[in-house]
Amino acid sequence: MTPVTSPTEQLIDRFGRVVDYVRISVTDRCDFRCVYCMEPDTQFVPRAQVLTLEELETVARAFVELGVHKVRITGGEPLVRRNVVGLLAKIAPLPGLRELVITTNGSQLTKLAVPLKEAGVKRINISLDSLDPARFARITRTGELHLVLAGIDAALAAGFQSLKINAVILKHRNHDEVVTLVRFAAERGMDLSFIEEMPLGVIGDHDRAEAYYSSDQIKADLEKVFTLIPTTEQTGGPSKYYRLRETNTRVGFISPHSHNFCEACNRVRVTAEGRLLLCLGQEHSVDLRAVLRRQPGDLEALKATIRESMEIKPRGHDFRLTAQPMIFRHMNATGG
Ligand code: SAM
Ligand code: SF4
Repeated sequence: MTPVTSPTEQLIDRFGRVVDYVRISVTDRCDFRCVYCMEPDTQFVPRAQVLTLEELETVARAFVELGVHKVRITGGEPLVRRNVVGLLAKIAPLPGLRELVITTNGSQLTKLAVPLKEAGVKRINISLDSLDPARFARITRTGELHLVLAGIDAALAAGFQSLKINAVILKHRNHDEVVTLVRFAAERGMDLSFIEEMPLGVIGDHDRAEAYYSSDQIKADLEKVFTLIPTTEQTGGPSKYYRLRETNTRVGFISPHSHNFCEACNRVRVTAEGRLLLCLGQEHSVDLRAVLRRQPGDLEALKATIRESMEIKPRGHDFRLTAQPMIFRHMNATGG
């Protein structure tokens, strides 16, 4: 007999933090090779080791039954996974799920914005680090700015509840574009978050300590042009938000180095291989794929494993700008 799930069940870790948000990576593959995320010759996980769409749906269902009310689908580039829209359409109606959102590089949005909206996706985060085509190509290595801009237009036309730009800011690469990026977002009624680069995986492109450009520096640059009003608004993420008096736009700062956000951590991640990561900046993990493949379709076994994992969720990350990163997995393999 299937045990009845209490509608009030919650995932709570050893530090009393409620985990109500999961980020599920549907692939570690991507059509871009962003310099801070992966290397040009990255070896991807063999397909047989990646969770199937059915397994991904089971994972999402288990988390939602355990009280998770926000699911973010990410990657790698989630929109290069075949039939990802079908998966989203199955996750969206899960009872108890309040928000189904995705993070994308925007390259596929001209063809997928409308299907995503129809599948039940409410919000999309689109990564955009530069509005200069040559710089954009330099940062993404294989990306083309005009395709992403067309994708953003398609998403705006499709009428999502909200669209947000994510920009990783690197000194001497794009730090002088922060005002331009805010104006771009404001003109389109989009919010924007600036992200400090995190030391995930070895990268050969630049020295992360040298490229570090802090949220406080970005804020100071913006304050020369805009009036930033702190808000207490929370979007369920680590962003600290400001409203700009001159626009309707909110600007967020994700500052893993300068303003550690672990105390209020409410999330876990599942990699494309089904590894449940309890912390972005630590290696603690649990192999959900092993449970899924040992007991296919056994939702209760999966839920029990997820419940137990709360015992090893670490207090927080310990990112330092050292030459060797402490975490060897790259962001594309993490589910950013
Ligand atoms: N491919 C999609 C995209 O780029 O939006 C989704 C996955 S990507 C890993 C998610 C987010 O992580 C992107 O906004 C990207 O800029 C960010 N990211 C990747 N590597 C990062 C790093 N080392 N530090 C901080 N942010 C990073
Ligand atoms: Fe791909 Fe996103 Fe990583 Fe860039 S940040 S390489 S778009 S997964």
